[in-house]
Amino acid sequence: MQFHLNGFRPGDPAVLSDESAAADGTTPSEVDVLIVGCGPAGLTLAAQLAAFPDISTCIVEQLEGPLQRGRADGIACRTMEMFNAFGFADRLLREAYWVNETTFWKPDQQQPEHIARHGRVQDVEDGLSEFPHVILNQARVHDFYLELMQRSVHSLTPHYARQLTALTTDDSMVDDVSAYPVAATLVHHNGTETVRAKYVVGCDGARSAVRNTIGLTLQGDAANQAWGVMDVLMVTDFPDIRMKSLIQSSNQGSIVVIPREGGYLVRLYVELGSLEAQQRVSDIDVSPELLIDKANAIFYPYTLDVKEVAWWSVYEIGQRLCERFDDVPDSQRGQRMPRVFIAGDACHTHSPKAGQGMNVSMRDTFNLGWKLASVLRGQAAPALLDTYTAERHKVAQTLIDFDREWSAILAGRPNADTDTTDDAGISAEFQNYFIKHGRYTAGTAIQYDTSLITGIPDHQHLAGGFELGTRFHSAQVTRVADGKPMQLGHVAQADGRWRLYIFADNCAPEDPQSAVGALCDYLMQHPQSPLNRFATINTRMTRNDSQSDIDALLDVRVVYQQHWRDVVLATLPSLLLPRKGRYQLIDYEKVFCADTDVNIFDLRSIDRTQGAMVLVRPDQHIAHVLPLTSHHALAEFFAGFLIERQVS
Ligand code: FAD
Repeated sequence: MQFHLNGFRPGDPAVLSDESAAADGTTPSEVDVLIVGCGPAGLTLAAQLAAFPDISTCIVEQLEGPLQRGRADGIACRTMEMFNAFGFADRLLREAYWVNETTFWKPDQQQPEHIARHGRVQDVEDGLSEFPHVILNQARVHDFYLELMQRSVHSLTPHYARQLTALTTDDSMVDDVSAYPVAATLVHHNGTETVRAKYVVGCDGARSAVRNTIGLTLQGDAANQAWGVMDVLMVTDFPDIRMKSLIQSSNQGSIVVIPREGGYLVRLYVELGSLEAQQRVSDIDVSPELLIDKANAIFYPYTLDVKEVAWWSVYEIGQRLCERFDDVPDSQRGQRMPRVFIAGDACHTHSPKAGQGMNVSMRDTFNLGWKLASVLRGQAAPALLDTYTAERHKVAQTLIDFDREWSAILAGRPNADTDTTDDAGISAEFQNYFIKHGRYTAGTAIQYDTSLITGIPDHQHLAGGFELGTRFHSAQVTRVADGKPMQLGHVAQADGRWRLYIFADNCAPEDPQSAVGALCDYLMQHPQSPLNRFATINTRMTRNDSQSDIDALLDVRVVYQQHWRDVVLATLPSLLLPRKGRYQLIDYEKVFCADTDVNIFDLRSIDRTQGAMVLVRPDQHIAHVLPLTSHHALAEFFAGFLIERQVS
């Protein structure tokens, strides 16, 4: 973490807020972005937008205050990588339960009325991410975001007890980037308020009012599987109670056991069976007592003595998806800019069993946030906003397909006699599917297609382990200035900046003829370089930091192949020791070297002779892989969506 750039500030460096920015409780009449809903999707977007001092954001929520308990709890590896960019992964790791192994239980072959363990697998394959798969109550995830928003320059806090009831868009204004064409009506205890916004994002859950106002519906299967869910404190003799366990009994149904944070709490998902056509979960009579009885029947011969039910609910499984995630019909795509978006459960719903709902919802708005910021700040053309629907709709469709298969497998009846098992005795259907989709469940398998912001993979062979469109897969390196071993990917913050990782060729770092030197000279000096050609604005810090640093748009980092002790910083191109901030202080954190034991060049198949440029988007996905000499191609890539700097 870097701070004190614009002068020494005492106290917690994470706190950027000042008193003048504190909310006075009333909603603003005009705002750049209005977010409806304080679930994971809405809070991720609010936290992202709060990083920009020049963007005004308002987030409203119909509930009276923050969520306290229940709902989702699984946090995938990829989501942890995103949390790291927001700066709270460490705290979450300390508090959460880590899923290390998953065990599989099914009817004992000799006594089918008993369940028996048939196998266990490592939950996340080695090397998939530097972060584990963890479990933590959704409400705590909300808390981390709320704290981050509160500490931002805006001291952003939600406006609770506000229900969005209507939304209208003035079509005559939609293509004027400076206009506020969307009017939202909010109902609260004392009447109604109207907020005019440049953009409205509906993060208002499965029954989204925003979705209805733009004429979209969730389409897909009617719900047909009901599951009860409860967070309990209990005493049991079930041996795997601190393991994530998938249990299928012979004729009592299935249970998923999710150990929870704190060492004692456990979540149980209890299968309740199929619903009739037109039947809803509200029609069936379920109580915590019934769920406990059912759980005891499934766990037999083990017993559960439940001491406290902290939260419970009944859940119906329906895999449904909207045709698009914004207010632009396909016939007008490219001719009209989107002004209203939907994200999270508002545009895709699915069972909780795949553990994806909260994760995918947050990653929807991580995808949207930087795009909205770039357009609002005059850095990018509005066409960038069309990529949100294109990218996230495909992700949601893949999720729905995965979820449908997974739910069917979980609800399927096991056959103790015929179900094949492997050498370790693991239920074959369960385990094979589990392993096959491990990367998807971890959230690391998402790959965006070639587009305005994802290049053509003509040079993929230069860095085979950094596949275009996938998220930047971090690896350990050593920072030269202070010899600190660290994850390269952790230089990425949720600050709307692009990152260019230069993996050096095999020249000596001090060689002025090296490809790295030529690239840095081009970036620094050439009028067509992205650093000189496009509009840049500093992202973070306080409202008073007005000047634009050299890395405000594109944060350039280099990784050399030599040992870090052999690199002399003073001999490197000046771009790698940039002068920044009010005092033009030197940033020493741009230069890294590969580690000898876990070498990033080997791990990610980077060409050691030629090196490679790896360009990474603000949402940590890889936009391009280029040769170090492709200066013009880099500039042209940005020219596809960034706005040229005005020369006065
Ligand atoms: P949500 O978390 O649904 O957030 C939407 C927010 O918008 C809510 O706070 C809502 O009050 C607010 N809102 C809605 N309409 C308006 C309006 N008109 N005006 C203002 N505010 C509005 N997932 C699991 O994996 N496991 C579970 O056990 C599980 N249980 C769940 C139980 C419940 C009761 C619910 C609702 C969801 C549950 N989920 C569970 C799903 C998981 O919580 C969601 O996938 C995830 O929260 C989606 O995030 P989101 O931000 O898109 O929507």
